[in-house]
Amino acid sequence: MRRNGGLVSLNLSVRDLAPSATVAINDISNELIRGGRVVYKLGLGQSPFPVPASVVEALRANAHHKDYLPSQGLPALREAVARFHQKNDNVAVHPDDVLIGPGSKLLLFLLQLAYYGDLVVPTPCWVSYAPQAQILGRPVHFLPTNFEGKWRLRPEVLEELCQLDPGRPRIVILNYPGNPDGTTYRPTTLKRIAEVARRHRVIVLSDEIYGKLHHEGRHVSIAQFYPEGTIISSGLSKWCGAGGWRLGTFSFPPTLKRLMETMVSLASETYTAVSAPTQHAAIRAFDGGTDIEMYLVHARRILSALGNWIAGRLRDSGVRVVSPEGGFYLFPDFSSHAERLSARGITTSAMMCARILAETGVAFLPGVEFGRPANELTARISYVDFDGARALAAGETTGLDKPLDEEFIATYCHRTYTATKRLCEWLGAL
Ligand code: PMP
Ligand code: GLU
Repeated sequence: MRRNGGLVSLNLSVRDLAPSATVAINDISNELIRGGRVVYKLGLGQSPFPVPASVVEALRANAHHKDYLPSQGLPALREAVARFHQKNDNVAVHPDDVLIGPGSKLLLFLLQLAYYGDLVVPTPCWVSYAPQAQILGRPVHFLPTNFEGKWRLRPEVLEELCQLDPGRPRIVILNYPGNPDGTTYRPTTLKRIAEVARRHRVIVLSDEIYGKLHHEGRHVSIAQFYPEGTIISSGLSKWCGAGGWRLGTFSFPPTLKRLMETMVSLASETYTAVSAPTQHAAIRAFDGGTDIEMYLVHARRILSALGNWIAGRLRDSGVRVVSPEGGFYLFPDFSSHAERLSARGITTSAMMCARILAETGVAFLPGVEFGRPANELTARISYVDFDGARALAAGETTGLDKPLDEEFIATYCHRTYTATKRLCEWLGAL
């Protein structure tokens, strides 16, 4: 299968579909732990932090809601989501154009089911976009990015694709801050991508699930520059620490109402509606407030300090890695070690991660899972194996003017700290 540039038809039978890599690495890690192994879980990307107390309290207070809700979502929650994007992204979203789903993952799937055009995805990309297209028998067009360009899509690359077959209906997925690379776009680049998309009438699915985890709190949405063609994807999973609550949101421009209505019909024929207590509680999360803002300030500070510390240690070991700007991922490139890895029979990212897990207990995912060539020695580190509640409590007592130093990381992000040391020792011993 050719990836990373070019149109790819993923025409496998769904019966051949393997479990999603992110879910599988978690299952494998848990299995090893049950068998008595020490495993550092840098595989699955889930927030290490607890759900803010006021949001948990809202869920408790709304547990009595028992009726099915409208498939599009609870009206009061749709209003809160519209206010959220107005306030955070300076984008006018109407509550009638908001759709609530059981995680943005399923909304992404329904979008691909409802939309008839091609899916365009810059790589590296999150693990599930392409398998979802595969399930639906839809073609995917992977667009190349590179380390030098911080793994970000260049507007010229999108322009070139659009010129190949002008007028072909397309959705391009942009995810920033990015999974698996932890980097984001500059507003000037977003503006230029918006110009290309507008010129070629490409729909942008802007996956902003890590938006509130921009480490400086300065996330900018492409919807500001291309409001008429952008669907914003968000949800509770990352910035609110509530992946297991399963609540995601899509905010559509009015021009795409028909597409949204088709998705609502699909929702009504499949899951009906997201759990009622969760939707009521989510209003509290999207409305925010000082407590949630402070929670985010501290969470971002910890993620930034830890991500930059790991990036520094990897660089000391000769590994190339772009410094993180948001979320909780790094996408290092181990190719400077290619010769020594090859001498040990390791020639692909999958072999590399399997060997590192076997020899150090550090579990993380190979670049191939993110749409990169199999022999490119990249991988994703999800730096979340620590007790987020304890780290937050400690961070809150450290003045915001003081940086969180190595001692903080060693004490409060201990497992991830140890995993990094073990990984670097392994590289040093090659
Ligand atoms: N997009 C990206 C980039 C992700 O990392 C994830 C993983 N949670 C999702 C979408 C889906 O998230 P959820 O279904 O929990 O909203
Ligand atoms: N998004 C997370 C990840 O990339 C995990 C959850 C998922 O993939 O659905 O690891």
